[in-house]
Amino acid sequence: NDALARAESLIDLTPDYPEPGVLFRDISPLIADGPALRAVADALVEPFAGRFDIVGGIEARGFLLAGYVAAITGVGMLAIRKAGKLPKPAAAVSYSLEYGTASIEAPGVLQPGERVLLLDDVLATGGTLAAAQQLIRDLGAEVAGSAVVLELTDLGGRAHAGGDVHTVFTATE
Ligand code: IMP
Repeated sequence: NDALARAESLIDLTPDYPEPGVLFRDISPLIADGPALRAVADALVEPFAGRFDIVGGIEARGFLLAGYVAAITGVGMLAIRKAGKLPKPAAAVSYSLEYGTASIEAPGVLQPGERVLLLDDVLATGGTLAAAQQLIRDLGAEVAGSAVVLELTDLGGRAHAGGDVHTVFTATE
């Protein structure tokens, strides 16, 4: 698929960012390209067609993907926020990062049993996605699936995030 191959080439690499030894992937150029964005959005949802009621985007790049996917599939969007941004968080989940901990929250907008397709840009250690899945369950809703643009396969994130993650592209760290 030409459009997908081009999309992959539009992921920008920055060595030693945000700290020495880390190769940072930035999907900004991919998001900025209409055909590439469309191809990636289609590929993200393809295995889940007709099996989700709403898309959940993880702040911040996940918002861009989820908003776009919501528009092309005709569903709504759940914005999963970093802690401290919502006036009335309905649930919160803390998880560990390489250094320290983080917390995500969501507003109380889901119906019981509503099927949420979770989207994010990069799967690294899987901590963020595992926390987002827990958050959806804590809200009384259901995880329809999880999909990321790029999986960094050396970091074990797939196992951490429950094994069942759909990925458009993969890379070794
Ligand atoms: P994890 O929790 O270790 O899997 O990290 C995934 C989260 O960190 C996602 O929300 C990503 O947006 C972000 N992240 C980790 N590595 C990268 C990267 O190389 N580029 C962009 N985001 C990253």
